[in-house]
Amino acid sequence: MQDTHSSSAGTLYVVATPVGNLKDITLRAIEVLRAVPLVACEDTRSAGRLLAALDIRGPRFTSLFEHNEQRKVEQLVEHLGAGHDAALISEAGTPTISDPGYRLVARCREAGIRVVPVPGPCAAVAALSASGLPTDKFLFLGFPPRKGIRLARFLKRLAAPARTGIAYLPARRLDEILGLLAESFPAARVVLARELTKKFEEFLSGSPAELLQDVSSRPRKGECTLLVYRPGERGEDEEGEECELERNQESGDTTEGEVGDGPGVTES
Ligand code: SAM
Repeated sequence: MQDTHSSSAGTLYVVATPVGNLKDITLRAIEVLRAVPLVACEDTRSAGRLLAALDIRGPRFTSLFEHNEQRKVEQLVEHLGAGHDAALISEAGTPTISDPGYRLVARCREAGIRVVPVPGPCAAVAALSASGLPTDKFLFLGFPPRKGIRLARFLKRLAAPARTGIAYLPARRLDEILGLLAESFPAARVVLARELTKKFEEFLSGSPAELLQDVSSRPRKGECTLLVYRPGERGEDEEGEECELERNQESGDTTEGEVGDGPGVTES
């Protein structure tokens, strides 16, 4: 279908921001954030701090998070429909990737409002790019569900053979998840990318059991992205899943770790 937009409507810019190091902001992100009259963000105070640090003064802020997204989307569509531009940012990284905004983007597209990505940092891609694990096929799974069969299924997909699985992980769940991987997939190669782009950035790698031992001597804190690769043949049931930024809810597979207000939004 042709990509047609209403000529009188404003543009929604989906702007990636740093995941730690402020210097990772792009020139284009600064330009766009300087120009728009309205910025939709999860937390108006931290967005205010970010823009102040970038010496950007001017735009108004409006909060957009899981529990108010549906209501806010209509207000934002009205703003854009009236011919004004807006930017969407998240706490860190690329909006809509395990962060709110998917509904807004979908609704804008439906309403014929132009949506423009302003690409930049994303923890999953940064971790993958420097992990040393194969990058030709990967599956991003977001946050793990809390427990039970959903967690087991999630880990099975994370460690599916012949592609790199990527998960976001609260540091407090490191021991649990590495322990389960060690039990079920002892031969997998695991990389833990912690505190990317920050002072204490580190990449730990090894088998799940080795990593479990490694993390047990460290404080369970910091931002963690976990990558898993298991050599082998891909099964038929996995056809078509590679290189996909998967949304668990899309298939109705709502995980317990998700807060449930739209695909791609998960627990933090
Ligand atoms: N939209 C973001 C992105 O593009 O990366 C992700 C948002 S998600 C709510 C936050 C999760 O991303 C964290 O819990 C952690 O798993 C991962 N993450 C964010 N910043 C990170 C960093 N500096 N190092 C490692 N992982 C990070």
